[in-house]
Amino acid sequence: MALIVQKFGGTSVGSPERILKVAERALRTKRDGHQVVLVVSAMGHTTDELLELMEKIAVRPNPRELDMLLSTGEQVSIALVASAISAIGGKGISLTGAQAGIRTEPLHTKAKIADIQTDRLRQLLADDHIPVVAGFQGITYNGEICTLGRGGSDTTAVALAAALKADMCEIYTDVSGVYTADPRVVPEARLLPEISYDEMLELASLGAQVLHPRSVEYAKQYNLFIRVRSTFDEGLGTVVKGVNELENQTPVRGVTADLNQAKVALKEVPDRPGVAARLFGALSDRGINVDMITQSVRGEQTNDIGFTVTKEELERAVQVTEEVGREVGAKGVVSDEDVAKVSIVGSGMVNHAGIAAKMFQALADGQINIQMISTSEIKVSCVISRSQAQQAVRLVHNAFHLGAPLPAVEAT
Ligand code: ADP
Ligand code: ASP
Ligand code: MG
Repeated sequence: MALIVQKFGGTSVGSPERILKVAERALRTKRDGHQVVLVVSAMGHTTDELLELMEKIAVRPNPRELDMLLSTGEQVSIALVASAISAIGGKGISLTGAQAGIRTEPLHTKAKIADIQTDRLRQLLADDHIPVVAGFQGITYNGEICTLGRGGSDTTAVALAAALKADMCEIYTDVSGVYTADPRVVPEARLLPEISYDEMLELASLGAQVLHPRSVEYAKQYNLFIRVRSTFDEGLGTVVKGVNELENQTPVRGVTADLNQAKVALKEVPDRPGVAARLFGALSDRGINVDMITQSVRGEQTNDIGFTVTKEELERAVQVTEEVGREVGAKGVVSDEDVAKVSIVGSGMVNHAGIAAKMFQALADGQINIQMISTSEIKVSCVISRSQAQQAVRLVHNAFHLGAPLPAVEAT
């Protein structure tokens, strides 16, 4: 008997018919002799709709109230999924994050899980129940509901699997697994049978929505396998695990784009020591995460300093940059939301020369201008114009032949 955590995303529980299918799948696993814990997301586009509703009420909503509102989406689906399981002969029981023992740090809209008390879940499992837990939420020690950031139900599932020492965490979604690029953007993208934690973490952090980045961090930390697979077919999907045997054959594992980026530039900054330290110190003091940074020489005495942040942080980043700009005597601040970050990821990249150059050439061939570049051992990222993001992903995917079948592995 294995203990399996199964997570179903928004599309998978998007209608009563789909909810019944989810219930059937869970009950089938239970009847195969396993213990099952379900984690579910809000139905369909519920979370987006709740956000739009709040936008009509408040321009800058109180984060506490936003969490109160958003957490209701998952509460609808747990009650329906648990009832569906019971309706077909199982013992379904719904649990909010708090009822499932999920404690979070006190940070509204992007909390991290602090710990999980599993007593109640274990008791329910021992009593043959299928607990259905609300994804994306938990409760602080002061009793406040906090959510984990968009896409956070994946993290609920993996964290629960780790806390329960589950044998497997299955993430059921609306595509057949992790592909070399978003299959909705690149139809010839190839399904990856396996991917390493490090590569998956980069892909997820760089915009591949299929897994929430923190869920991959947890899985790596607890050495827990994740299987990403489709709710709608019986395929085996992709296993995310420690080592990837195919690493050295294909230096680039996947391509992704992050559209949630914005660029800020401080223009004509006096060229003297301490300016960058002052600017990035001030941004970090306000909790603003800076991603890429460039400094370009403008003339004899001045520089431009550019950097990227997420769209949500743009307004605050501009404010801080304007303050620092006045203080250091810069000419002005400009910002641009019309950007995207396109990245290639692969842990075999370090051993291969010319990977970055090939990516730049692919973009050049498509007349796509690169505004910023950053590299690490396992990724190369370029900031480009947002309207060219999808074209860029297709061109780069094609340049690295990622849609081609894998070369045959030679017997040793
Ligand atoms: P869920 O609601 O099940 O959590 P998400 O919408 O959060 O589903 O994530 C699944 C989506 O991720 C897919 O529909 C797909 O468009 C997108 N995606 C982006 N990059 C990739 C990738 N490399 N492989 C698979 N899916 C990807
Ligand atoms: N419902 C939340 C969202 O849409 C969490 C999730 O689906 O993982 O972001
Ligand atoms: Mg998701």
